[in-house]
Amino acid sequence: MTTALALFSGGLDSILACRVVQDQGIRVKALKFVSPFFDYDLLERQDGYCAEVLTKYGIDVELIDISETYLRMLAAPAHGYGKNFNPCVDCKILLVRTAKELMAKYDASFLITGEVVGQRPMSQRPDTLRIIERDSGTDGILLRPLCCRGQKKTRAEEQGLIDPDKLPHFSGRNRTPQIELATEMGIADFPSPGGGCILTEQVRAARIQALYKLQKPELLTPENIRFLLKGRQYHFPSGAWLTMGRNQPENELIESLQMGKDLLVKAVDRPGPSGLLRFSKGQADQELAAAIVARYLKKTAAKSQEMQVVTGDGRSAILLVHPAADSDIKPLSW
Ligand code: SF4
Repeated sequence: MTTALALFSGGLDSILACRVVQDQGIRVKALKFVSPFFDYDLLERQDGYCAEVLTKYGIDVELIDISETYLRMLAAPAHGYGKNFNPCVDCKILLVRTAKELMAKYDASFLITGEVVGQRPMSQRPDTLRIIERDSGTDGILLRPLCCRGQKKTRAEEQGLIDPDKLPHFSGRNRTPQIELATEMGIADFPSPGGGCILTEQVRAARIQALYKLQKPELLTPENIRFLLKGRQYHFPSGAWLTMGRNQPENELIESLQMGKDLLVKAVDRPGPSGLLRFSKGQADQELAAAIVARYLKKTAAKSQEMQVVTGDGRSAILLVHPAADSDIKPLSW
């Protein structure tokens, strides 16, 4: 049986692309790429996610963590950035190229994506779609089954593996035809379009951009990116980083990010935010972090506050600090 390898975002277009190719008797293996900027949390529930996609859509999906290559690409994407720090064209090229490299492993004859010509301003213009093929080395093996009619034929069509006349033909931003096809196919529960990529978000993308501007490649790790994407952020003159939760779920998440020499900073015997201090250079950083976290505790008559600083292996020290003044905190905000 012929196999096609699909780039699967989990959105409606990628679901439909897989399904219309399956309907022509092709086995489809779907790859869902994850990075700290999109869908990384799925790695924690990989089996559950894959089972859910199989049950809901009949699609056999596998997660591929592309973080390391992605972080390198993001430093200098050949085709530049979009409105924020999103390198959409190079992102697509990287994902398609990686899928091509995996074709032998899955014994796949061709690749498919759910791209629809004209749907997205940066990465789905007709000329950009050609650039993606050219720069990923997938000319002739990349089939876009939702919009391939009228385009240069791929090998799968030439060899009769796929009948383009039986495929839908979508274009532009109107999604009604896709939703109608989904309804016909009995696909009811699918994610709404857009969102999902942090690099398109103004505030968090700016943090990532600021990190890249530091020109310190050793800082470009998935763990550091995840740190920067959660909570209120402060960068100290020493080079230490502090993140602090804004609510209970975020506190729990921030606590779960503790690794290596990170220090957890919390009030002693009082509810309040959790802070996570990374790259601390010593006592002064710990006191500053404790003072910032103390600032966000409920005010009391006491002038100073007992705070605890806990290492990853559970050792803790108590610090007595005055809550930091807003004017001192503001210049440290990231
Ligand atoms: S929005 Fe994000 S995930 Fe989507 S193509 Fe652009 S950079 Fe890649």
